[in-house]
Amino acid sequence: MNQWKIRRVQERCSSCEKPFEDGQRVTSSVELDDEDVPVRNDYCASCVPQDTDSVLYWETRWVAVTERKKKLDFHRLLRLFEVWLEKPPEGIEPLLYLIALLLIRKRFFRMLDLVSEGGDEYLRLRRPGPEQVPFLVPAPLLTKEQLPQLRVQLEELLDGALEEDEVEEAATS
Ligand SMILES: [Zn+2]
Repeated sequence: MNQWKIRRVQERCSSCEKPFEDGQRVTSSVELDDEDVPVRNDYCASCVPQDTDSVLYWETRWVAVTERKKKLDFHRLLRLFEVWLEKPPEGIEPLLYLIALLLIRKRFFRMLDLVSEGGDEYLRLRRPGPEQVPFLVPAPLLTKEQLPQLRVQLEELLDGALEEDEVEEAATS
């Protein structure tokens, strides 16, 4: 994952490169690039691709960058998790695991236990509610040193900020 492409909140269309104007509708998407690395792109209305490998879309109105960062949208995070769980891009396990931990903290999932399969560890989770079927999420070892990088990747991809200690607390509780 060291070839991860970091992109700041963009001020122009990823395709035609026209600068966005205040209030303009922007479609953002998380897509896999030619090397299957997830990237976020922001498109003006004329450039929204009709047929891509995008795993997740959302629409916003563009506003001039302010001091305050937008909060990360956890429902957007949940959608990304579900898509990646189904069809994980290569090397995504640490990020997927961290997303799972964040979603557990927000009570989107309950953690049942940790299971070992073929030498790998997995979290067994289920949604709240007695009828829900448990499922497995890869649980690779996350080091403290990995966390800041994973956090940046997540914030860049979903264009939203996590709280100060949210990542550290999710990964250590
Ligand atoms: Zn455009």
